[in-house]
Amino acid sequence: MNCRHTTVSGLAYVCNHLYDGLTDSIPRHIYTSTDSEGDTNAYCVVCEAYRLDNGGEWPDDAAMFLRVKVICGDCYERLVKLSSNIG
Ligand SMILES: [Zn+2]
Ligand SMILES: [Zn+2]
Repeated sequence: MNCRHTTVSGLAYVCNHLYDGLTDSIPRHIYTSTDSEGDTNAYCVVCEAYRLDNGGEWPDDAAMFLRVKVICGDCYERLVKLSSNIG
């Protein structure tokens, strides 16, 4: 992957599992939410299960579990496209 996420607009915050999809191209379901800043936050089914296990709230140590990465809008679109390959 050559993208260095230098695009200023359309940044997205994704969990490390989704981020892996940029290199391994394995489709993963994407769950999204928009934060108070209007930025896109996205995470995978593993992280969603983790959240549900905690009563539907992100626990204090969630950041360690998600290991969130910042990617550009183009890469985010790639992940969305990839996830649409799931039947
Ligand atoms: Zn990128
Ligand atoms: Zn995840």
